Amino acid sequence: MPHSPYSDALHRQDGSIATVLHDVARAHRILELEGHGDMSMGHLSYRDPHGRGLWLKQGNLGLEEVTGEDFILIDFDGNVLEGQGLRHLEWPLHSEIMLARPEVNVVGHSHPFHSTIFGATDAELGPYVNHAVWFAHHGVPRFTETSHIITTQPLGTAVARTLGPAEAVLLANHGVAFVGRNVKEATLSGIFLEKAAKAQLALAASGLGHAPPSAAETIEKHEVIYPERAKDNYWMYFNRKLDALEGRAGSGALRGYEGA
Ligand SMILES: [Zn+2]
Repeated sequence: MPHSPYSDALHRQDGSIATVLHDVARAHRILELEGHGDMSMGHLSYRDPHGRGLWLKQGNLGLEEVTGEDFILIDFDGNVLEGQGLRHLEWPLHSEIMLARPEVNVVGHSHPFHSTIFGATDAELGPYVNHAVWFAHHGVPRFTETSHIITTQPLGTAVARTLGPAEAVLLANHGVAFVGRNVKEATLSGIFLEKAAKAQLALAASGLGHAPPSAAETIEKHEVIYPERAKDNYWMYFNRKLDALEGRAGSGALRGYEGA
């Protein structure tokens, strides 16, 4: 049996946290497939349903290595309440966004190549392709107060302020943060941001004339192409893609937990 890092009886008895963390772990591995990997940087968190804080992926692991047991529970001041392993330095980015956005239950931070390059420009992300239409209502703001990593609560608060009601924020010359009410929405926010940034960079580099659809058409399109059933459909698609790559259903195949 794999060694469990958790000591708290509540966790072992509460299948719902373990079940969600299993999905959050899969989201890390899916995001690796979709261009979010950057060595051992990047992390997602899940709001503890008992109000204790948040479950944050532990440090020193690549996105593709994360399993459901690789999370630590921290409170909103960063104190580790459960679990072992390194606490990522950028924990305040997660905690401050969750404090500012009560409806958000999953926060992600990563350094996807195209989004990070796009974030270093002064261009606004436009609805040139349908992936960008995901952000039709609030756009994707850019945090420019610093390019440093987000290691303090005031910096986390500042990122949350720039994010506002949006699904994602570009961290200029650093990376991105993305959020959702659940793991499905947060993962799609991260994936669509990277696809949209890649498309807009290609458009700009093409030298060809281009124009986005109108704001009204973009909002209209958002309702048509991203209803709940479409979100479910895409989430399941990315899970099948992960399963196909890992060679079987379930988590941890890449890391070989069962053999350890
Ligand atoms: Zn970072």
